[in-house]
Amino acid sequence: MVKRLAAPAIILAGIVAIVATVYALMGAGHPSDNVHYPYVCDTCGAVVDVSEYRADYPKNWRTPKGAPSDSVVTCLRCNRGWARPVAPPCPTCGTEYVLFMGDDRCPRCFPEAAEKVRKLHGKDSIFRRP
Ligand SMILES: [Zn+2]
Ligand SMILES: [Zn+2]
Repeated sequence: MVKRLAAPAIILAGIVAIVATVYALMGAGHPSDNVHYPYVCDTCGAVVDVSEYRADYPKNWRTPKGAPSDSVVTCLRCNRGWARPVAPPCPTCGTEYVLFMGDDRCPRCFPEAAEKVRKLHGKDSIFRRP
């Protein structure tokens, strides 16, 4: 009985060790190095993955003058627009939306949030994949 269980236990221990090593290696870099989400430029509309902005950090990560937060970066495509992050899909309705400062709630679940963004930025914050 003990012998029978020994092999799977060793394999399991091996898997745990590998997973722990992978996590340790991942943790060595910036915590968000492996995160992917799009950034959308409010001027040219370019959709660029955050990894591209982080690729040549801090060269590609330029916070525009007057930006409300350092999560806003200068667009890599047109070099003058403000690129903003897209929020993870809303847990309620699955909508992906651009994070405009002012109101970060889901524009579909909270029409007043969409209205606020429209008033402040003149834009619709719902993200449409290109
Ligand atoms: Zn742009
Ligand atoms: Zn929603």
